Amino acid sequence: MPARIRRKPFKACRKCKALVERDAEECPICKSRDFTEDWEGVIIIVDPSKSEVAKVLNIQVPGRYAIKVR
Ligand SMILES: [Zn+2]
Repeated sequence: MPARIRRKPFKACRKCKALVERDAEECPICKSRDFTEDWEGVIIIVDPSKSEVAKVLNIQVPGRYAIKVR
């Protein structure tokens, strides 16, 4: 289920939309180092093969993702 958080303790990977800790140097999912703090919405994907949202967002690895990344 999508969840909303008020603060933004995470930054989002521009490539795969994964949310990672602010001090992370590279994305644990796709190894990109291109991050943005300009993102909206949080979605937790547990099983990408059964999630319509994961298909729409093209997510293949379980984890925590931003819905919108600019
Ligand atoms: Zn990534």
